[in-house]
Amino acid sequence: MSYWLDSHCHINDEAFREDLDDVLKRMAENDVRKAMIISSYLEDYDFGLKIFHPEIAFKYSLGIYPGDVDEVDEELFHSYEKLYAEERCDAIGEIGLDYHWNKENKERQKEIFARQLILAQKLHKPVIVHSRDAIQDTYDLMKEYRSEGVMHCYSDSAEMAREFVKLGYYISISGTVTWKNAREPLEVIRNVPLDRLLIETDCPYLTPVPKRGTRNEPSYVVYTGKKICEELGIDEEDFKIQLNENYHKLFGL
Ligand SMILES: [Zn+2]
Repeated sequence: MSYWLDSHCHINDEAFREDLDDVLKRMAENDVRKAMIISSYLEDYDFGLKIFHPEIAFKYSLGIYPGDVDEVDEELFHSYEKLYAEERCDAIGEIGLDYHWNKENKERQKEIFARQLILAQKLHKPVIVHSRDAIQDTYDLMKEYRSEGVMHCYSDSAEMAREFVKLGYYISISGTVTWKNAREPLEVIRNVPLDRLLIETDCPYLTPVPKRGTRNEPSYVVYTGKKICEELGIDEEDFKIQLNENYHKLFGL
């Protein structure tokens, strides 16, 4: 039996504190039975580890977000490093480069990203990578410090997606593929082999149609999954089986 899954969600975010139980209930009702909870902060990570639902299997990822690198000193870096080594930390992320919000600290972003990639190699953990307006630098570092990983909420060209796949990385598609102006994400899904695709919400952000304009949540990943099946003309059940296989190959059982 295969289920829908959300390879990248922030249900540990403040946005879900009021009604988390209902959010989890809707996940189970919509057959979203697996989810990777992403944390950028130690408090969120602790909170995420406590989230529980009897019908949902969670995995946990922690990483220093590129937008926060100016706030990170050696002591804090070391606290993250210690947690990465623990068994319950399934992945390192989201890490990466974001030149959309800050181009002034590119070198510092690259340094913190590279150091986390090196830790991932050393610890044999997959990476979950955020890249915005920085695709070439992201690619160069992920080529140099190669490990297992996924390009989360991939929003660049189909051509670059193929280059990441060549290095062995997965491409994760968010709700933007359902949006009206989705020309590029649609081109990406047609260019990435099915055994390299993942889907995600990145909730509370990037809500798919028909829920656009409201807070996103993991149960909405189904809209993204169904849209991909429709566009590629593939069977939903087959796609779910493939997604589950990809998810476990990358993040473990
Ligand atoms: Zn995220």
